[in-house]
Amino acid sequence: MSGLRDLYQEVIFDHNRNPRNFGRLENANRSAEGNNPLCGDQLKLYMLVDADGVIREVMFEGHGCAISTASASIMTETLKGKTEEQAHEYFRSFHAMVTGDPLDDGAADIGKLEVLGGVREYPTRVKCATLAWHTAEAALGRERDTVTTE
Ligand code: ZN
Repeated sequence: MSGLRDLYQEVIFDHNRNPRNFGRLENANRSAEGNNPLCGDQLKLYMLVDADGVIREVMFEGHGCAISTASASIMTETLKGKTEEQAHEYFRSFHAMVTGDPLDDGAADIGKLEVLGGVREYPTRVKCATLAWHTAEAALGRERDTVTTE
């Protein structure tokens, strides 16, 4: 199992060092801010959602720890091209994985998001990993516009 863990750490390290979809999205029609004061993670998320409810573009900016940055980076890759409804299902599945609290109706296949599963052993890091996802929920109108993990 340590080989798998090393691989996961390598993926997190890579996304932290070279975050994907990092920066401001000028033509965004959805945005939200997220703060995790416990760790000092801050991010702003931008989305361009088309008339069919498909997330065409998603970008983020801000600063935070390796876990929060990697999670946001992987999330942007995951959500691009998905519908708002699919995004919400990913949120639920991801949240269930990192909190170790399985869903009654079964989780979606979360693919590479699995690399962040290790944070469930570190409760304070769960907030780092879920910050971007809560912020995405806010951008899509499912939570308040400014998210704080406190
Ligand atoms: Zn953090």
